[in-house]
Amino acid sequence: MLSVSNINTYYGETQALFDASLQVGEGEVVSLLGPNGAGKTTTLRSVLGLSAPRDGQISFDGKEISGRDTYEIARMGIGWVPDDRRVFPSLTVARNLQIGIKKTRFRSWQIDEMFEIFSALEYLMGRECENLSGGEMQMVAISRALLGSPGLVLMDEPSQGLAPKIVQDVMKTVIRLKQAGIAVLIVEQNALAALEVSDRAYVMDRGRIEYSGPASELLENAPLRRKLIGM
Ligand code: ATP
Repeated sequence: MLSVSNINTYYGETQALFDASLQVGEGEVVSLLGPNGAGKTTTLRSVLGLSAPRDGQISFDGKEISGRDTYEIARMGIGWVPDDRRVFPSLTVARNLQIGIKKTRFRSWQIDEMFEIFSALEYLMGRECENLSGGEMQMVAISRALLGSPGLVLMDEPSQGLAPKIVQDVMKTVIRLKQAGIAVLIVEQNALAALEVSDRAYVMDRGRIEYSGPASELLENAPLRRKLIGM
């Protein structure tokens, strides 16, 4: 579904990614872990065309996407849940969701289906987003991504600042997406929560992919996990 091959991404003259490669299969959930500044967000930004790599290839759904505009990449079926959730604060939940609706070649979702996933959402539809809690905003951000009919969703720190119960709800949603055949690439500081719902994991450090393997290996092998992600 997603193949990132040997990308080098820069901010000005500062290199942030060094020869980074990763893959996400169809319907697969993959964690991208690592310390602050490792290059996780930059990897997502590279896929989305927000920070275009200087070289290397990125393909999605069998098509080359490096060099394309972000709106075009989104239209091909890549959804994004940014770390700051980035809803339009002065607009209602309903309006924020309507803005997200897109058709792609992948399964489309109805707003009613969002209410099945997030039961509280239905009662928030008339509220302005600036008045929502962090957890409620995350529901809107994930629903908006789904309404864009993605084949792959990139999630950047979805559990950031959320209470443990809400983190569990977010991770249950990841499983729900997988069951619907949607692939998920999830960047998380909360590595254990992400690994629990992932098939595979990558660990980055200083702009390089240092490890790739099954999520179960990092969950079960505590010494390896401590060495790679310090927990
Ligand atoms: P975090 O968990 O702290 O978000 P991360 O793994 O997502 O970390 P990135 O945000 O991708 O890491 O940052 C990778 C490197 O690129 C860091 O050295 C960071 O300082 C640098 N960087 C990130 N954004 C910019 C920017 N807009 N301009 C210049 N350098 C940047």
